[in-house]
Amino acid sequence: MTTPREELEVLREWQSRLRAHFPIITDHPELAYLDSAATAQKPQAVLDAAWTYLTTTNANAGRATYPWANRTTQLVEEARERIKEFLHDPAPERSSTHFTSGTTEALRAIAFDWLPAHLTDGDEIVVPLADHQANITPWLEARRLLTDRGVRVRVVEMPYQAGSGDYDHRALAALAGPRTRFVAVTHVHHVYGGDMNIHRIRQAVGPEAVICLDAAQSIGHLPVSVADLDVDFVAFSGHKALALPGSGAVWARQARGPVFRPGGWSGTPNTVGIVSLVAALDWLDAAGTDRIERWTVALAARLTDGLRQLDAYQVLGCQTSLAADSDVQRRLGTVAFRHREITSGDLGFILFSHGFMVRSDSHCQGSAGEKTGSVRVSLHVHNTPAEIDRLLSALATLQ
Ligand code: PLP
Repeated sequence: MTTPREELEVLREWQSRLRAHFPIITDHPELAYLDSAATAQKPQAVLDAAWTYLTTTNANAGRATYPWANRTTQLVEEARERIKEFLHDPAPERSSTHFTSGTTEALRAIAFDWLPAHLTDGDEIVVPLADHQANITPWLEARRLLTDRGVRVRVVEMPYQAGSGDYDHRALAALAGPRTRFVAVTHVHHVYGGDMNIHRIRQAVGPEAVICLDAAQSIGHLPVSVADLDVDFVAFSGHKALALPGSGAVWARQARGPVFRPGGWSGTPNTVGIVSLVAALDWLDAAGTDRIERWTVALAARLTDGLRQLDAYQVLGCQTSLAADSDVQRRLGTVAFRHREITSGDLGFILFSHGFMVRSDSHCQGSAGEKTGSVRVSLHVHNTPAEIDRLLSALATLQ
């Protein structure tokens, strides 16, 4: 197995070419952007696509019949297919793509437009209470809505392994039964950074349960294949996947039930956001999401290993970066940690005085999550080993 150091060496030239695609990064060499899990920076190709669309073709979609309007309608329809292709959808004729403003709205659309029509009295839903709030509250609200209609749905709390942040697949298998209809999961955890091993979730809950994947932190960070993962819904945010804010989508498989069709009039789509999303997916495919994964896993391992040498810090979740099919999987470029004495809020300010932009708070984690805040470093393809080493040196001075 290649070590993180070897991996970074092998990919160094590839990465330095790609880093040059991010103007906001190259324009500020004195700063290090370490908050890609909150929102990602945009490569020039995405900015160009948005500019070109707005200066050559801008019109509304699905309405008028003059050329700009027709072209816009076509771009939106092509984008649906592009998303399916990006997700390695093996049966695009049997899936649908619905545009949203991001993951939050995507999960809410599933919770309110799809879920209530598919649950009956006595059904169970699995909710991951230590994941992002966006993947918790919609399911609890949908349950309340159903209760008001006289349909009682039981919420099963997703079990987690102690200390790692990963789901406890064995405990889940014991909890899941014939009434387990719907399982909300996250692909890459936004605090612990772990790949949550969705194959094992499918094994635990069986072939009939609907699995809804929050892919906010995985799209753009690793190859995502709906066939391989065997999931039924995928929700993601364009802005975390290098596209403009306000673009996101739900991908829905139609195999196990009626088509996901949001109710009512959905209004004007975010046309420029959708155009930027296609450009971002094209850029990511050309860069190679497999290499982005290898790069950010190796950077995260370098940071995790460096932090373990510094007594003043505690890394949250998994302590090391492990192999692909160990119980706890690799850390995909996100590392959260605490200083034993300095609060995470103060640490965030101190780090910015050294040029590091990090997130420091409780990261919108649900009720079963961490009880105190932490500093989160989240990486993307433009980050470098030198930035990690500078960060570790700055952290070492605070010991
Ligand atoms: N799910 C996860 C795992 C996230 O990390 C986030 C945002 O950080 C969301 C959902 C919500 O995404 P958005 O704010 O783009 O809707």
